[in-house]
Amino acid sequence: MTRGGSMGILGGTFDPVHLGHLRAAEEAAEALGLDEVAFVPARKPPHKPGEPTASPEDRLEMARLAVVGRPGFFASDMELFREGPSYSLDTLRVLGKERPGTDLYFLLGTDAFVEIHTWHRWEELFSHAHFVVLTRPPRAAEDVAPYVEQTLAGLFSAEGGEWRHKASGNRLIPLSVTALDISATAIRGLLARGKSIRWLVPEPVRDYIILRKLYTDAP
Ligand code: ATP
Repeated sequence: MTRGGSMGILGGTFDPVHLGHLRAAEEAAEALGLDEVAFVPARKPPHKPGEPTASPEDRLEMARLAVVGRPGFFASDMELFREGPSYSLDTLRVLGKERPGTDLYFLLGTDAFVEIHTWHRWEELFSHAHFVVLTRPPRAAEDVAPYVEQTLAGLFSAEGGEWRHKASGNRLIPLSVTALDISATAIRGLLARGKSIRWLVPEPVRDYIILRKLYTDAP
């Protein structure tokens, strides 16, 4: 299938998806003029200790429910059927093959970005997509530069507030988004203590969590 246009990819555990993910994706889509944003739950996140609390199927369903009514946003099951750890490199390679005419933008929060040198074959990642680093409290857009200059030294050249991957020409774009200090960990904690999570997740996601009795015994 050959299609043009541009697509953002937000990978994650989505355990559960929350308004921090959604608002950041919305602002990235608007700022970059993205035609689509794929929310891609990892079957087995390589970087997180232990297993996700909810099943991959529940996490995908919550992502689906979260984006209902937002044209261009969709939840993808592409990592759910792959054996072994869900590496972003594999996801980007598959998308690159499936969508040769589409500009791919990999979206990730500052917390994830400053760990990228620990990811599977991380130096190859930047050849497969543009990277958009979304600010997530407590980190700001200014925190991206020291990491790029020190840890990713030599891979990028600076270009007016962003960088270009020397090998591929792909962009690395720091993007300030509305600071929403929301995490899935905190949401699971609230649910485990019997507290409200209203206005931290979309209502259909909250309904699903209640219906399926998810996270009620999380630590
Ligand atoms: P957990 O608390 O279980 O570690 P999380 O809330 O960090 O989960 P993930 O599914 O791991 O959620 O996040 C997926 C991606 O979304 C990551 O790149 C992460 O940096 C980004 N992200 C998550 N929450 C926010 C937020 N509040 N603001 C901006 N980016 C976010």
